[in-house]
Amino acid sequence: MNNNAVALEHQKLISETVTQTRISKRPQDYQQISLYKDVNPLDWEDWHWQLKHRIATLEELAQVIKLTSDEEEGIKKASGRLSMAITPYWLTLIDPEDPNCPFRRQAVPVVFESVVGPHEMVDPCAEDRDSPVPHLVHRYPDRVLLLATESCAMYCRHCTRRRLVGEHIESNSPTRFDAAIEYIKSNRKIRDVLISGGDPFILEDEEIESLIQKLRSISHIEFLRIGTRVPVTLPHRITEKLANMLKKYAPIWISIHFNHPKEITKRCKNACDMLADSGMPLGSQSVLLKGVNDRPYIMKRLMHELLQIRVRPYYIYQCDPVRGTQHFRTPVAVGINIIEKLRGHTSGYAVPTYVIDGPGGGGKIPVGPNYVLSQAKGKYVLRNYKGKIYTYLE
Ligand SMILES: *Cc1c(COP(=O)(O)O)cnc(C)c1O
Ligand code: SF4
Repeated sequence: MNNNAVALEHQKLISETVTQTRISKRPQDYQQISLYKDVNPLDWEDWHWQLKHRIATLEELAQVIKLTSDEEEGIKKASGRLSMAITPYWLTLIDPEDPNCPFRRQAVPVVFESVVGPHEMVDPCAEDRDSPVPHLVHRYPDRVLLLATESCAMYCRHCTRRRLVGEHIESNSPTRFDAAIEYIKSNRKIRDVLISGGDPFILEDEEIESLIQKLRSISHIEFLRIGTRVPVTLPHRITEKLANMLKKYAPIWISIHFNHPKEITKRCKNACDMLADSGMPLGSQSVLLKGVNDRPYIMKRLMHELLQIRVRPYYIYQCDPVRGTQHFRTPVAVGINIIEKLRGHTSGYAVPTYVIDGPGGGGKIPVGPNYVLSQAKGKYVLRNYKGKIYTYLE
């Protein structure tokens, strides 16, 4: 880097620090929010209470945050699939005066969601096409994705499964996974089941246990994992009872959807601790979102904080070209640059893999900085994280 470039980087760093230290106007304690001033701490801790009291209307939300006209219009239009639902816990994290607050951007619909951007699709990863039986996506030979529910604690405005996910009547018949279980049983090549949704932890403990039991009884299933966002959006759901139940079937790997370092609150750490203490290896998945986590210093801070709560960074996803998410999507170069700023510059454990889910059903394809400059006749010319060149002879 020449002096000018150094000065420029430094300038950028200063302006980033300024945005970062903007004083949030959010209250320190939930009882400071007038809507919750009379809520008893036992109710506040109860995940069923939190779910029942989710914010789902413009009127309720407007009592707590100063909505912009883009948000007001977005909320009115977001009925039906991927309706608005914000847990009281998440609401306390929203800055009522900053429309760019990361908690707010992820939870409050805006009018841009009704715009269909170029190349956007209803089902960009063609999951429906790769579904041999209900609730199952079978894309890779040795592993399947089981969609256990279409509900979540909170609906993320960037959700890639917005065609399915949201508040609606869903069958909760105990036989609804029978065809999926039979399919897995009869395919001995399947060794790995990823239980996702929606959010599987929105189901009652007994329902989750019954599903895990069925999967664990299949002898060729050696790897079980759960994808969830509950430790971030509703940490109260991770109870001792749930952790003890999961422990009986350990190891179950858990992938948690984290997007911003501020999501790692004390309450969230406590939920992750319970899972980790019960023997669940934890990993993270993040979606690259414009204006939320598209700066290298934010992603780096997120990865560092994740390691401190025993969560190993796993994936950063390019935001899928799903309808109504154009306002969240960054150029691919932004993601590559984030990896460039992580690899070699910090602990290898803090570096996730940046992937694009191949539109049309290609699966997760890693994209990242190129470190091989040339390769010919047993000679690799490589560059390291500082840009220095090295030759490796085979
Ligand atoms: C993401 C995904 C998996 C799991 O992929 P890994 O790279 O093994 O984590 C499996 N099936 C489908 C359809 C997926 O989208
Ligand atoms: S938790 Fe996952 S499935 Fe649910 S709305 Fe968010 S991104 Fe979609």
